[in-house]
Amino acid sequence: MSQQEKLESSSILKCVRCGTCRSVCPVFEEIGWESKTARGRMLLGQGLIENELEVDEELLESLNMCTTCGICEEKCPAGAAPPKIVETARQMLVDKGHHTNSQEKLYNNTMEYGNSLAEASDRNEWAVGLQPAENTLKSDYVYFVGCLGAYRYPKLARKTYSILRKLGVALLKDEKCCGSPIMRTGFNADKLVSHNLEQIKQVGAHTIISSCAGCYNTFKKNYPDEFRVMHVSEFLEENLSRLNLKPLDIIVTYHDPCHLGRSQGIYDSPRNIIKSICTLIEMKRSKDQARCCGGGGGVRMAYPNLSMNLAKKRVDDFPRNIDYVVTACHLCRNNLIEGGSEIEVIDIVDLICLSIAD
Ligand code: SF4
Ligand code: SF4
Repeated sequence: MSQQEKLESSSILKCVRCGTCRSVCPVFEEIGWESKTARGRMLLGQGLIENELEVDEELLESLNMCTTCGICEEKCPAGAAPPKIVETARQMLVDKGHHTNSQEKLYNNTMEYGNSLAEASDRNEWAVGLQPAENTLKSDYVYFVGCLGAYRYPKLARKTYSILRKLGVALLKDEKCCGSPIMRTGFNADKLVSHNLEQIKQVGAHTIISSCAGCYNTFKKNYPDEFRVMHVSEFLEENLSRLNLKPLDIIVTYHDPCHLGRSQGIYDSPRNIIKSICTLIEMKRSKDQARCCGGGGGVRMAYPNLSMNLAKKRVDDFPRNIDYVVTACHLCRNNLIEGGSEIEVIDIVDLICLSIAD
């Protein structure tokens, strides 16, 4: 048994089968099977570690349907960590050659194209015409755009960098996927990690700034501990006085991305930015109690219907009579829009741009 498996095994033994997680797991709420809740997944993890389970489609599905939202860990009275068990179990299965076609496609695309979206075009196309300022070729700070920022939300990437470059932040010449999608689904991303580390060292940066909750979480959890990692909301909160923001007469609510909030404890920075601009109303479940948007853990790509159903439930939590729903993760924003939000869903950087005085 590897060191990691021993560690997870001790976490599994903490589970007293109380079932508290059944009442909070969003996937269990949708599917209704014990094997799709944290308690069931703990048992599956134990069976795998002890080599007592035969691997079949059902087992893969149970593990792959977890969004790693972490609310089960938050609520577990015994201190167990089901999302970590799920990730380790996925790795164990992949190591033994057990994975779905969807997992394999994601892995192959990411390794071939350097992004999880199988895009063959230049990753830095979003920045054309937005030349780095002279002082940002070498910098203590670098903006890691991420696959979704570069290919799906180029306008938002431009807005973000337009602000960051004035604060002396650099870009990587040849950024590749941080590795999050393939690591979260059980594969090894060492090559991508080494490539990005080399790029960051070329810039000379000591701080990586990310606007994607998935990238942020991955830099924190899976990259060597040699850099400071900041979410763009943390960096901009630190630099609020330099942004020259004007107050707006609007009311917004904030959706906490699981991988930024529960996973990394970032609740205050986006809220402090919002409150410096306009009125914030909390939604029904917020901060460590926030409901998952359904996009994480590889679920959006592998189980789009489940992902949409989870998004719809989150949309139901939005308060009435507000102007915008603000979030701080591309995947959450996209899922909430596709989940049918009638209220416009924007990124924290979009809100800042609305408020930047001319
Ligand atoms: S809440 Fe914790 S102890 Fe209770 S069943 Fe779930 S994982 Fe096990
Ligand atoms: S991390 Fe979320 S989806 Fe996964 S078992 Fe826990 S509550 Fe369910």
